[in-house]
Amino acid sequence: MTDILSRFLKYVDVCTTSDDSSSTFPSSSFQLAFAEALAGECRDIGLLDVNVDDYGYVHAFLPSNTDKPVKKIAFISHMDTSPDACGFNIRPVVTENYDGGIIKLNGTELNPDEFPTLKNHIGETIISSSGTTLLGADDKAGISEIMTAMEYIIENDTPHGDITIIFTPDEEIGKGVDYLDMNSFDADFGYTVDGGAIGELEYENFNAAAAEITIHGKSVHPGTAKNVMLNASLIASEFISMLPKDETPATTEGYEGFFHLTDMKGNVSVAVLDYIIRDFDKDSFENRKKLIADKVKLLNEHYGNIASIEIYDQYYNMREIIEKDMSIIELAKKSMEEVGVTPKIQPIRGGTDGARLSFMGLPCPNLFTGGYNFHGPYEYIPLESMKKAVEVIVKIAENIAK
Ligand SMILES: [Zn+2]
Repeated sequence: MTDILSRFLKYVDVCTTSDDSSSTFPSSSFQLAFAEALAGECRDIGLLDVNVDDYGYVHAFLPSNTDKPVKKIAFISHMDTSPDACGFNIRPVVTENYDGGIIKLNGTELNPDEFPTLKNHIGETIISSSGTTLLGADDKAGISEIMTAMEYIIENDTPHGDITIIFTPDEEIGKGVDYLDMNSFDADFGYTVDGGAIGELEYENFNAAAAEITIHGKSVHPGTAKNVMLNASLIASEFISMLPKDETPATTEGYEGFFHLTDMKGNVSVAVLDYIIRDFDKDSFENRKKLIADKVKLLNEHYGNIASIEIYDQYYNMREIIEKDMSIIELAKKSMEEVGVTPKIQPIRGGTDGARLSFMGLPCPNLFTGGYNFHGPYEYIPLESMKKAVEVIVKIAENIAK
């Protein structure tokens, strides 16, 4: 068996930052190199039908070793790391037997006063970044855990049904399943292994839409503008103030939804506002879209048709799909409990590839990887949590075959 620490360190050593300005898929060529390396390793540990397709998706298969007809399952993780932080030249810091104090990094530190979750892992081995890059536990921890679990299952001949493994590119730029061929594999349901702290189990996420509002003003010389000029930027700021002030990301948590102004540009002639709209509840999601469109209507009534809005849906709350068969959640919960992990079910204030997959026909909740503080230099993961994630994956496979 390859131990999971050396496997993880090997993966994070490979830069796989995705690039949202790229017009290719995958968005960066080093993801393809990583995909080929992972495919080679899949073959080495004994997985079958291994291939990297034209888009960089790694597919691998472990056929059932029981005669019983059992549910077919998929485990999915993503290969890219977030473009929000440097993913090159990652030099992980491994702190064994963590004493609960400050972990010194390059020019900065991981301080338990600032990151109290560290206190939950005293005595464990903490793997962090060097402080100048991200670590890449999101989601190379997920890949390490799936790979190690598969190696364990094969070596120990653990009973299991058909298992499909998929490693996807470009998740961090929202395109992780854009080119995934759903006919290329056969699974009844799946789990993304892409969550945070030990025990996390997620099957609820936002319903999401984006809206772009364009306002056309009337630009004339400011000296002779009285009762003639319509300043698009001023009208845009009026529009902003028409939306509820206490429904923004900075004023909401838990199951509360929001309107989020992500970008604004403007001059006298034209102003453009970009919003994202998020809500867990389908009805109130629809109401939010209606509310923002109604405010545009009000502007048009007041100023004469000067504004237009385009709204498009981005993804939906997977709960709608998962709820139809809660045994997928029960299986994960039971498997966690059997290996001594307390399940923590919580809503995701965002989206996952699993959410999109659920609507593409593969119900797909999200399992923990064990990591914290993703997408930045304070990212860290306890080795013990990674080992537990491996045990959970093995147990899920085993429990299906029972
Ligand atoms: Zn991730």
